[in-house]
Amino acid sequence: MEGLMMQQPLLVASLLTHAERHHGGQEIVSRRVEGDIHRYTYRDLAQRARRLANALAALGIGPGERVGTLAWNGYRHMELYFAASGSGSVLHTLNPRLHVDQLAYIFDHAEDRVVFFDLTFLPLIESAAPLLKSPKIFVAMTDRAHMPSKHNVPIMLMCYEDLIKGSNDEFDWPLLDENSAASLCYTSGTTGNPKGVLYSHRSTVLHTYAAALPDSLNCSARDSILPVVPMFHVNAWGLPYIACMVGAKLVFPGPALDGKSLYELIEGEQVTLSAGVPTVWQGLLTHVGERRGEFSSMRRTVIGGAACSTAMATEFQEQYRVDVLHAWGMTELSPVGTVCSFKAHHEALPRQDRYAVQSKQGRALFGIDMKIVGPDGEAMPWDGVAAGDLLVRGHWVAMNYFGSEGASPLRDGWFPTGDVAKIDPDGFMHITDRSKDVIKSGGEWISSIDIENVACLHPQVAMAVCIAARHPKWDERPLLLVVRKPGSDVDSQALLEFFDGRVAKWWKPDAIVFVESVPLGGTGKVLKNQLREQYGDYYLTA
Ligand code: ADP
Repeated sequence: MEGLMMQQPLLVASLLTHAERHHGGQEIVSRRVEGDIHRYTYRDLAQRARRLANALAALGIGPGERVGTLAWNGYRHMELYFAASGSGSVLHTLNPRLHVDQLAYIFDHAEDRVVFFDLTFLPLIESAAPLLKSPKIFVAMTDRAHMPSKHNVPIMLMCYEDLIKGSNDEFDWPLLDENSAASLCYTSGTTGNPKGVLYSHRSTVLHTYAAALPDSLNCSARDSILPVVPMFHVNAWGLPYIACMVGAKLVFPGPALDGKSLYELIEGEQVTLSAGVPTVWQGLLTHVGERRGEFSSMRRTVIGGAACSTAMATEFQEQYRVDVLHAWGMTELSPVGTVCSFKAHHEALPRQDRYAVQSKQGRALFGIDMKIVGPDGEAMPWDGVAAGDLLVRGHWVAMNYFGSEGASPLRDGWFPTGDVAKIDPDGFMHITDRSKDVIKSGGEWISSIDIENVACLHPQVAMAVCIAARHPKWDERPLLLVVRKPGSDVDSQALLEFFDGRVAKWWKPDAIVFVESVPLGGTGKVLKNQLREQYGDYYLTA
């Protein structure tokens, strides 16, 4: 047709080919599981990703089939990001902090054909493998010299570097349908098992454009970016893709997420922008504070996944002159929905008022529509006072869960976030509460339902309700409220010990409160909101 623009599918592989051509010499630096620092360039990344794509084909991984990863942030994980998605299969990142039973569930539910893992996670793989219903190929992400000499993985264990070495570096990235699946990430739902969110090539590229903009994460070719937020959790907030799009230097922390290691990397690699959850930054601030250090290059840090406190924003900005970008997102949103960047008139506000703005989660990126609604679905005003359920829609918002037989989560075409929020007249969204029951500890989910199920297995427990209680270090920690069976005298210690081996260690509640009864609503459901109001500050006041 005359006068129209070209139609080119938006594909993940195009981010890599762009980076190779325009920023081929730009560096990617990774702290490795093997202990050393590894450096190479986007040119090397692209070449090794092509080799890996050939290796995946040789392993028989076909279009649309899932490639599982259990790995830290590092260059090999980055290669998998592009080799898997780029060749038409689906990158499936798994969260190694989950309990082995859940990992096994997710591996099987996603029908991963092959699983790549960092050596740190060999014991997890050894425990998960016998639980798996469908067979998988396992690949240790290391070289021959570091391959484990003994292991309990029931089938043959392959070596990543052998796969790369044995493969050709010529590979033509296929011209895929932009609406085909590129990657998969599971999130803890409010009910039942973890749910998979499937990102398309199109949603990923559009998210990348929008998230890189100056009023979003503000990324450029002059940046040195340290994603502390894990690549196993919502694609490290999109930073691996953004870095390719803009040609930024990438710095990967590997397994070393303590304050000292992060600080060394930030200074050594002259990091300008970092991103992570508040808990990680707390560790960094403590370390830098103790040694009276400063940040010589870091100018911005993205804080999200949980609310950024004014105390943290103040410390970063006033003590270290590092600007804080408070961001909000969800796995179902690829993940970025809003970023708190000032409008022009905010710049002139008195200091305290600017902090009040920064405590909000921010305004929507172009491509995300949001609204708040009341109990009957009626839209609430954007007056900064009225609070309602936050609903969103947009190019990178999930429509359904992967392989779910259940009904679509959408309400009239909008995705209910489970967050309760206000929106001010400038469009700045502020989360006031969560209507969903999951607990968010240090940026990671804990399912309240799983904890309750374990507690109810105990013969002396009549009823157990787990809620999120605010915590000074972890943002939230599980608090378990228990109604004992008549005549029972089980105590906290015995009940807490009951959790050992039944859930991941960090899922274990920090405390148990024994109660006579719990409040129930009209349909017999526990009124968790009411309990959160009553016990939400338990760890702050205990
Ligand atoms: P992520 O941790 O990457 O944001 P998840 O899907 O694990 O994604 O969690 C999303 C939920 O985390 C949100 O619905 C919200 O409850 C909470 N959350 C995320 N960012 C913030 C934030 N800046 N402030 C408060 N809560 C947040």
